[in-house]
Amino acid sequence: MSKKDICSYDYEELREEIERIGEPSFRSRQIYEWLHVKLTDRFQDMTNLSKKLRERLCEEYEIAKVEVIEHQVSKMDPTEKFLFELGDGNMIESVLMRYSYGNSVCISSQAGCRMGCRFCASTIGGLKRNLTPSEMLRQIYQIQRLSKERVSNVVVMGTGEPLDNYDNFVKFIRMLSDGHGLHISQRNITASTCGIVPNIHRLASEGLQITLALSLHGATQEKRRQLMPVADRYSLEEVLEACDVYFRKTGRRVTFEYSLVAGVNDGPDDVRDLTAILKDRNCHVNLIPVNPVKERDYRKPNSKIALDFENKLEKNGINVTIRRERGSDIDGACGQLRRRYAAANVRRTR
Ligand code: SAH
Repeated sequence: MSKKDICSYDYEELREEIERIGEPSFRSRQIYEWLHVKLTDRFQDMTNLSKKLRERLCEEYEIAKVEVIEHQVSKMDPTEKFLFELGDGNMIESVLMRYSYGNSVCISSQAGCRMGCRFCASTIGGLKRNLTPSEMLRQIYQIQRLSKERVSNVVVMGTGEPLDNYDNFVKFIRMLSDGHGLHISQRNITASTCGIVPNIHRLASEGLQITLALSLHGATQEKRRQLMPVADRYSLEEVLEACDVYFRKTGRRVTFEYSLVAGVNDGPDDVRDLTAILKDRNCHVNLIPVNPVKERDYRKPNSKIALDFENKLEKNGINVTIRRERGSDIDGACGQLRRRYAAANVRRTR
């Protein structure tokens, strides 16, 4: 019989589970604290539980394995990258970025991805599987433990499409922000989606306060389709409408991400089209000069073109920033560490 994934039980579910196995409810509070506050990864270390209970937990439950395989520290900026191995051998990556306002961790929501965005390294090997809530949480827990520094912000912008793993993702958000756990404010959590419209609508009704980031990358339906296969399923108009609903229902301003790709979406008509769709929206635009991916031949525009693009949007009254690149010396960008690791393993096993 496979062991139960104890870190994916939320506070209430753990209480029911521990009562079900005949233990008093204060035990579940202790266990929850070991798992989600003290960030323990072994039942043996839960020293205020009886030896008998610890042994029982060991037999019937597991603390999801998220084990550091590689840890890279950037020499250029205060950024660190972690490659983790999961219980079934899948690899995922996370990034720690230190800012003046606190430490931010970028996590993966799936092992691989099936969305197929043309410039993205994470989608190249396809989707392996969804991550469980515990596997999403424990990326953050491991980083907080190893760095011995508090994580105050979380972005779900690593490998995977969170809204393609909807239930686990929403549960993860609730557990991460729960006062019984790390208690990270939902306002300090951002989740990025390629635009799965029905699930944006669902998310808008969850009563959450997280920031939604929408990967736009093209300001017309045609342009978007060139870069993102998901645009074949949902029109630009539907995606923008869903973002408006998200803003109306949550009061949270949506961020639009726009990866600048030289010669593809960085021209004067692109600025014009982008202005046209965003000028009456209360939003923020994040320009990301595309990170070159070995397997693809997309390039970033030179910095003058990127700055011009930003200035023109700004002049048109649009709230915009260019995302400063972090950790480029450590495969810092977008699924590249996991990719390099996968490629190296293929070579080794041949
Ligand atoms: N599936 C989610 C999260 C993906 S990663 C989404 O699509 O939004 C977060 C952001 O990085 C997305 O906007 C994604 O399009 C972008 N991205 C992926 N690969 C990139 C690359 N090589 N260069 C720049 N941005 C990239």
